[in-house]
Amino acid sequence: MSRFFSHKYDALTPYTPGEQPKEKKYIKLNTNESPFPPSPKAVEAAAKAAASLQLYSDPTAAKLHEKIAALYEVDAENVLATNGSDEILNFAFMAFCDKEHPAIFPNITYGFYSVFAELNGVPYEEIPLKEDFTIDPVDYIGQNKTIFIANPNAPTGISLSLDTIEDIVKSNPDSVVVIDEAYVDFGGVSAAPLTKQYKNLLVTGTFSKSRSMAGARLGFGIACKELIGDLNTIKYSTNPYNVNSMTMAAGIATLEDEAYTQTNCQTVIENRSFLQKELAKRGFVMTDSKANFLFAAHPDYEGKDLYLALREKGILVRHFQKPLIDKYLRITIGTKEECEALLAAFDAIFSQTKEV
Ligand code: PMP
Repeated sequence: MSRFFSHKYDALTPYTPGEQPKEKKYIKLNTNESPFPPSPKAVEAAAKAAASLQLYSDPTAAKLHEKIAALYEVDAENVLATNGSDEILNFAFMAFCDKEHPAIFPNITYGFYSVFAELNGVPYEEIPLKEDFTIDPVDYIGQNKTIFIANPNAPTGISLSLDTIEDIVKSNPDSVVVIDEAYVDFGGVSAAPLTKQYKNLLVTGTFSKSRSMAGARLGFGIACKELIGDLNTIKYSTNPYNVNSMTMAAGIATLEDEAYTQTNCQTVIENRSFLQKELAKRGFVMTDSKANFLFAAHPDYEGKDLYLALREKGILVRHFQKPLIDKYLRITIGTKEECEALLAAFDAIFSQTKEV
């Protein structure tokens, strides 16, 4: 740290992204990316947009907003596209949290929430999950604090029903409830329709998972036009051209190829169910994941040992050295072949350790 770094960041511990190794070819099951390439139409559209990179991108993202609005059956004025959903989550911490509106979120959830709270000097409280890793909705009823819930949650993959989300939103009329739907397309139900009814609900989404565009950085928020207006104030005060023109073109083309996305989601769901059954046969315990990953622990092994043994065999999964979840691995659902390679690696690890 230099002597110039502001003391306001003394307590800030930055988010640690999953590894993106360059030195060796791994089977990457560690950052919940899609195992499938983007739609060929998106690749073509991005390449075409590259020819006009001398121009700024459209700060209003008009066409992209229209397409996202059509998918979620809302109006374009209810949508804001951002540089990944991380950006809209940060905007939400900036716009809707302060000393009068502290943030609350589960103690086991997306690690960036606490980082955004620290970054923006927002007081926050982490609410313990129940022992089975589920969220107790009662903890979020009538709190009148700014609530952040990933649905499905990460890294557990467990999802809350729409009725429960509605109860939480309804009972906190004077504060904003943010539902982070990064993983909703793999078996969850979107709360986006509720934004028509509730003026305190912001639903966020991403093109990084189901739409195979993690590297393009495209996320979005859906809310009533007043909340979108507030988020736009933050956007135009930080980075008006937050979505670059190649990403914008790729996002539009992806939404014009929705069948491609749906087919891929279906395959991920099938592979998840295959992997879940096979891991259970090998003694793993798992949460009921509705996301593109499984959260699995083996009673006879430490999470870290399994993570390291898999790494040795060229397979990356995510392990969090955190109390309560350090026995678990978060395993992204890959192609069928990748799932089979993972199972073969576990079999080899288990037979090696038995022999010792
Ligand atoms: N929310 C959750 C729960 C996530 O796991 C992630 C990705 N790691 C994000 C949001 C952010 O994703 P992106 O910025 O790629 O849209």
